[in-house]
Amino acid sequence: MRCLPLFLSTIFIFSLVANSQAQPFADLVLRGGKIVTVDPANPQGEALAVAGDRILAVGTDQEISKFINPQTTILELDGRLATPGFIEGHGHFIGTGQSKMMLDLSTAESWDDVAEQVQTAVAVAPPGEWIIGRGWHQEKWNVKPERLYDGYPTHDKISAISPNNPVLLTHASGHMCFANDFAMREASISGNTEAPAGGEILKDENGTPIGIFRETAQTLLSGAYASSTAKQSDKDRDRLAERAVELAVKECLENGITSFQDAGTSFANIAMLKEMAEQGKIDVRLWIMVRDHLALMEDNLARTKISRHADNFFTVGGIKLSLDGALGPHGAWLLLPYEDLPSSEGLNTAPLETAQTLAALAIKHGYQFCVHAIGDRANREVLDIFEASFEKNPSIMPRRWRIEHAQHLHPDDIPRFGQLGVIASMQGIHCTSDAVFVLQRLGLRRSEEGAYVWQKLMQSGAVVTNGTDVPVENINPLASFYATVTRKLKDGTEFFPDQKMSRAEALKSYTLDCAYAAFEEDIKGSLEAGKLADITVLSKDIMTCPENEIQDTKIDYTIVGGKVAYDRMKPKSKPASK
Ligand SMILES: [Zn+2]
Repeated sequence: MRCLPLFLSTIFIFSLVANSQAQPFADLVLRGGKIVTVDPANPQGEALAVAGDRILAVGTDQEISKFINPQTTILELDGRLATPGFIEGHGHFIGTGQSKMMLDLSTAESWDDVAEQVQTAVAVAPPGEWIIGRGWHQEKWNVKPERLYDGYPTHDKISAISPNNPVLLTHASGHMCFANDFAMREASISGNTEAPAGGEILKDENGTPIGIFRETAQTLLSGAYASSTAKQSDKDRDRLAERAVELAVKECLENGITSFQDAGTSFANIAMLKEMAEQGKIDVRLWIMVRDHLALMEDNLARTKISRHADNFFTVGGIKLSLDGALGPHGAWLLLPYEDLPSSEGLNTAPLETAQTLAALAIKHGYQFCVHAIGDRANREVLDIFEASFEKNPSIMPRRWRIEHAQHLHPDDIPRFGQLGVIASMQGIHCTSDAVFVLQRLGLRRSEEGAYVWQKLMQSGAVVTNGTDVPVENINPLASFYATVTRKLKDGTEFFPDQKMSRAEALKSYTLDCAYAAFEEDIKGSLEAGKLADITVLSKDIMTCPENEIQDTKIDYTIVGGKVAYDRMKPKSKPASK
């Protein structure tokens, strides 16, 4: 410094002074509310400043006022709560949009309700056009249909209503579907048709298919539907796919979701989503698991892996596999038979060798391996495969591999989540919507010891995430948050309440823990300086309000990367869903 010519050192000193006085100004300030940050170092504030797509500071109104200049947009919270943007920890992004383009049967209270919706659709559909629906659940009906087989409705009523249109209605769980006579003929299904491995075609006492297809047997119908859509022009297909994405984005933003972890998309659809993200058409940050044919994996995994692309809106980081089905349709793979179906231990829907092959590919290409396992047997098999993979490759721990759902666990396996650093990727809302049949399916001991054991898992040191498995359940994070902190059913009974989370734990499970489960906790999941300004503003303080008000809470603003992407008072006018 001593050698520096005088004029240069003067400039240097001047610039130092100028810099120390340069106050970074905020593009956006939220103030006059309660900011719950999920940052233990600075848990709460009144105001928050944003510059560009990042958080500048969280503090008191007074502290944040210094970042305001005439160009700053001010959002008055008026006492409302702002939290880190919710992260949907396990959903199906394109499926979310597609579910808005088909019959929504989730509120049907009887098979007659379902039939009525089909009838309305038939009235306007040209002959031969497929009628698609989703969301029916026989356990949620007040009135049982006249004809039931094994507890499931038969096709005759809907075949009569829709003689000229194939009808395909997917169960709420996604693990079973219903088809009418026309659809079964389109799929060339008869009494002689054998179900593929890991699936079942329900047949009556005469060996005639009743219209119900479980697990992999659904592919017989989805294949027939796909070959009908294959006749569409490329342009029509692209238009429908883009429409589904647009509707999924809208659904996320209206529900305060700023990031979405997609539980399984094909290479082709990943390419489409990537292009749309690059064009700025997806205002929600995606983290995607690849799900595709095993034969395609080796060649495509390396070139598909991508991280924090398109301004942190697009990451492909996981490989997805489903090892069993769901509990509702007796598809969860159990160690011991079902209490209410003693002939069955559920279904193993993919060979264990496939899981081992994918585990090796995940290690080779640097992916997280994310395996759907619901029953205690499926969970044990996955933990065994994970453990063996980690032992073989000790240098690349931790991998943060995930078990998707992890719903029913044998007590011996619970501590293994913490020991192995395996993420329990769970959905609060599944607990209370499935609770009506869990005891029936599993009996008291298995339910008490291992059903949705959030506290036991967290005490084992495991990270437990949250979400909805949308479109299996509605994406609404407040319904899942409510289920997580109450475990309360519609009739008011609580399902093993000792396992519920505190509100702080539940918020963390929906934000920072989800970020952790995707190696993203350095950029999102809490409100702290330097992180992405992804924020949700709520109409009520869900951290302190009476329990029954949680579900009435509205999303007032969804802010993604510092931009108000949803404002309840000024919803963006997007075309109504078809
Ligand atoms: Zn799922």
